[in-house]
Amino acid sequence: DDRNNYLAAVAVSEPCRGGGRRYAAAALDLSTGELVAEMADGEEEAVSALRRIAPGEGIVPRDDGTGEGSAEICARLMQSAGVRCVTPVDSWLFDAESAVAMLERHFGVRSLDGFGCGGEPLAAAAAGALLQHVRDNLRRDISHVRRIRMADSSGRMVLDDAACRHLDLLPGARENTSAPEYADSLYGVLNATRTPMGARLLYRWIQRPLCDVDGINGRLDAVECLVKDRKSLTALRTVLGEVRDLERTIARISLGRGGPRDVLAVASALKRVPAAAEAVRGASAAVPGCGSLLLRIAGDMDPLPELSREIESKLNDPAPAGISEGGVIRDGVDPELDDLRSAASDARAWIAAYQAGEVEKTGIKTLKVKYNKVFGYFIEVSAGQAANVPERYIRKQTMVNGERFTTPELKEREEKISGAAARALELEQSIFEKLRAEVVAQTVPIQTTARALAEADVLASLADRALALGYVRPRVNGGDSIIIEGGRHPVIEQLPDAERFVPNDTRLDCSGRQIMVITGPNMAGKSTYIRQVAMIVVMAQTGSFVPADSAEIGVVDRVFTRVGASDDLVRGRSTFMVEMQETANILNNATPRSLIVLDEIGRGTSTFDGISIAWAVAEYLHNTASVKAKTLFATHYHELTALAATLSGAVNCSVMVKERGDGIVFLRKITDGAADKSYGIAVAKLAGMPDTVIERAGEILTNLESDEFSENGKAVFAESRNRNRRAKKILEDRNLLLFEGY
Ligand code: ADP
Ligand code: MG
Repeated sequence: DDRNNYLAAVAVSEPCRGGGRRYAAAALDLSTGELVAEMADGEEEAVSALRRIAPGEGIVPRDDGTGEGSAEICARLMQSAGVRCVTPVDSWLFDAESAVAMLERHFGVRSLDGFGCGGEPLAAAAAGALLQHVRDNLRRDISHVRRIRMADSSGRMVLDDAACRHLDLLPGARENTSAPEYADSLYGVLNATRTPMGARLLYRWIQRPLCDVDGINGRLDAVECLVKDRKSLTALRTVLGEVRDLERTIARISLGRGGPRDVLAVASALKRVPAAAEAVRGASAAVPGCGSLLLRIAGDMDPLPELSREIESKLNDPAPAGISEGGVIRDGVDPELDDLRSAASDARAWIAAYQAGEVEKTGIKTLKVKYNKVFGYFIEVSAGQAANVPERYIRKQTMVNGERFTTPELKEREEKISGAAARALELEQSIFEKLRAEVVAQTVPIQTTARALAEADVLASLADRALALGYVRPRVNGGDSIIIEGGRHPVIEQLPDAERFVPNDTRLDCSGRQIMVITGPNMAGKSTYIRQVAMIVVMAQTGSFVPADSAEIGVVDRVFTRVGASDDLVRGRSTFMVEMQETANILNNATPRSLIVLDEIGRGTSTFDGISIAWAVAEYLHNTASVKAKTLFATHYHELTALAATLSGAVNCSVMVKERGDGIVFLRKITDGAADKSYGIAVAKLAGMPDTVIERAGEILTNLESDEFSENGKAVFAESRNRNRRAKKILEDRNLLLFEGY
């Protein structure tokens, strides 16, 4: 219930003049009527979009020799995205021109511009193929699909599937986690929604944070209002708790599958809308100038009072699940139905009287008038008395211990009764159908209301979590700095067995502090720290308050991650290959507005290889104007601290450890300045390695380190054969300061 279930399609354009193609992905959730489409510029992006959708099933054009290999590409994209069930369909379904015409007809519009996909025939092709396939091939009703939403990548932060996984944004992203509570993800921490539709929307918000400053601040304003006005917040969440899944209910009803209980559920949800709208409006006044999103949401909530009154006056509550047994329509709704019902109850009285009369006439005390579905009404007499029945009784059936009879009067009465029952049922059905049609006629306002309730639910959930977990409102702007004081990792600080979490500060910008090189021993807290920074940025751009004492976030267009060693054996790529592909993707796509999280890059190969690649990557990020992104670079290669000496925008930071005796204590505190040792041997000792091994490793380390720097303290390995003089000068000046410790 708290996840959408999508059918997806991808479409590919013919090669453009430069040889490149464009891609579109579309997704349809038939249970809610949601239809979304999204454009992508490259295969990677298209796969990423599909993975985010995580469809249960996909369709691709069948390979019929037309379309310059697009069928093959679509199939490959689906496969790369891990979509297991893929159905090839007639390729003409993907024809952009007829898809546009089909969608225009379906939505009853003259152009798709209003949906934001007028200029994107490819997106229309994918969406149109989905709708036609569902309608014509699967023979399902699609009348409740009333709009197409373009997932607008322009106003959205790009979070590829690797980032979602590495930052634990969504439940179950890490392999083998089947924890039902999902507490090990950002979604798990932030989800206190009260309705399934709210839960689904929160999931989508976290997947696609915003990157326009006004949009983000609009959400933050709304959350702040709800945080400040706890009375309205509590009132809102209480009401939402009673609303349930209006979105799916209305979808079922418009598909003609909704029973009496669904129609009642609509009425019961609609009846709560005024209270929800009032709470939202109340909160909107809590902080002057911050109420506009809440007012828009309250304005979208339409309680449709006539409709809900109509439903409640016509349907019995509680109602039976189906309509086939009757008993759905209230007494007093329809005079004919009432007459038929009283005829039925009169009939029952007649039968009781008839039985009493027959007992008297025949003198058989055990005589009973009974009813069953096969024989209708009959008179039953015990076997011992069967000989005493009058002649006018007509035998119907002989039982082991009794005989069954009928009489002309009984027969006549029975016909009247069953005729009345059939007519009553027919009437009930037609009244119900009419009522259902009235609900269907209001599909659009009900969908809009459901959407507004979901938005209110998500904002209330964010406010509730902010209050419960001690979050603050981030200051989000269009600048290029990220300044966090006392930041915490939202998920790890919630783990029940976590040591008390030590907050840390962050300061990143696009000039003097562009690249933060974070060193420190294994287990010091480097990985936690760099993810925490990225997660705080994602939270802020989702519209959530953040776990920090204060935070200033210059919006980020994309978060890139390269974290840990993740094998992708399913797709047949080795660990190191995956690492290099992810890194290549970063270098090729990062912009100065991006945030890059690099954890232990180069670890998948030999030390020298690894350091060399890591070094060159950092230099590239620093020196290439088009990719000069804010970067958090965690490494246990303390050799990389020399980077700060050569790159003006790189700074060294380290996780403090205290040496005690011959061991170390982790302080979990990040400070400026490089770690002077890698402490690998100290950690090995903590792990219980034999003393001989520890001692011998110490000797070897000393030997290695003696060769590491040239006489005047330069990192020997980073020498460049055709380095210019200026760089040489900078290197020398800085190294003197930096390597005092050596
Ligand atoms: P590294 O990447 O340096 O090897 P990790 O980030 O994996 O270290 O962290 C090691 C352990 O320390 C983890 O179990 C984590 O929960 C804990 N930890 C990390 N940062 C903090 C912190 N600021 N406060 C408390 N515990 C932390
Ligand atoms: Mg680590």
